[in-house]
Amino acid sequence: MNIKEIRAQFPLINNQNIVYLDNAATTQKPHCVIDAFSEFYCNFNANPMRGIYDLSVAATDAYENVREQTAGFVNAKDPSEIIFTRNATESLNLTANILSGTLKEGDEILVATSEHHSNFLPWKRIADNKRLKIKYLDCDSEGEYSVESLKEALSEGTKVFAIATVSNVIGRVNPIREFAKICHANNTLICVDATQSVAHMKTNVIEDDVDFLAFSAHKMYGPMGVGILYGKKELLEKLPPFLEGGEMIEYVSKEKTIYADLPQKYEAGTVNAADVYAFGKAMEYVKKIGFEEIGERERLLTGYLFDGMKNTDNIRIIGAKDSAEHNCIVSFAVDDVHPHDVASIFADSGICIRAGHHCAQPLHILLGIPSTVRASLAFYNTKEEIDFFIKVLSEIRSRMGY
Ligand SMILES: *Cc1c(COP(=O)(O)O)cnc(C)c1O
Repeated sequence: MNIKEIRAQFPLINNQNIVYLDNAATTQKPHCVIDAFSEFYCNFNANPMRGIYDLSVAATDAYENVREQTAGFVNAKDPSEIIFTRNATESLNLTANILSGTLKEGDEILVATSEHHSNFLPWKRIADNKRLKIKYLDCDSEGEYSVESLKEALSEGTKVFAIATVSNVIGRVNPIREFAKICHANNTLICVDATQSVAHMKTNVIEDDVDFLAFSAHKMYGPMGVGILYGKKELLEKLPPFLEGGEMIEYVSKEKTIYADLPQKYEAGTVNAADVYAFGKAMEYVKKIGFEEIGERERLLTGYLFDGMKNTDNIRIIGAKDSAEHNCIVSFAVDDVHPHDVASIFADSGICIRAGHHCAQPLHILLGIPSTVRASLAFYNTKEEIDFFIKVLSEIRSRMGY
């Protein structure tokens, strides 16, 4: 991987004197994604699906081609299993909402405690509204979920299990394929939040046999404003719509509504065609580099970051003790220093990292730490940036007067 050439594609990190280590919050965008907006608005802008004139057809094609491309990207059987939303949060809310009608009092939902609030709160809400039982699956102190604990937590009444491929705090990959098998043997659906894994490793909804899978384009070099939901066709076909309005119907009268087929049933109103078009460019870009190359470089960088932190005094790393279990994410605490002070010292040095509970407060409560600092990588980061990060990290306590 020619890192100079790669960085030249990302104007923000290339032109500004910053070290960007907040990739788990959002990634930077390459030129091909940035240029895609003007490409779309200069060449294809019309309301997709509405007109039969050439321009509307071109807009529809630009949009629908990305749906096909997305199906290929996650290895879905059929493009109609791909629904575009605003972000992962909306995809997960949509899933919980459309499933809620199939659940009845006494049914159970199981949610992994380390979930981002986006895959936690929607389930809690439908559980409250429909008087469902909600149970939480705890990880151990290193963030690991065991197959045994899942088997024990499932009961006959468990209808849905919600878990991420990779936690945005811990960075460990969960054994989704094994979990899906166990869930299906119990007639439990599995809803997977893949937001932290899609940019770093291959997604394969068929091999993993997941029922729903959600992510955001903006955490994989694409634009903000596009979320993706994959859902198995046989499920989406029989579930009700989430939002209602234009373009999601076949027929409407005062007496009767017939909903449109998939995927239109789930895409009410004018779609975010330009952003979806730009998301297509992001997938193309990632595919061109390839997940093998990306994975190899990111493992190297993660190991380098992890070792540097491990060798720094008074740092407590959250999660696994082995860098191989941290996929681009290392969350930590500095003894005696509040995470917000840590982040602000980094900010003064031009290093962008995140402090807080990272929208995963139940996990922090489980681990007994109110908040953490998180450094998160992408393949465009460099060892020099990590060296600088470690240097500032090693000075934090003395800068705070310890
Ligand atoms: C960022 C994130 C989300 C939410 O993504 P949005 O784009 O803000 O909707 C959900 N889950 C995980 C694991 C995340 O990292």
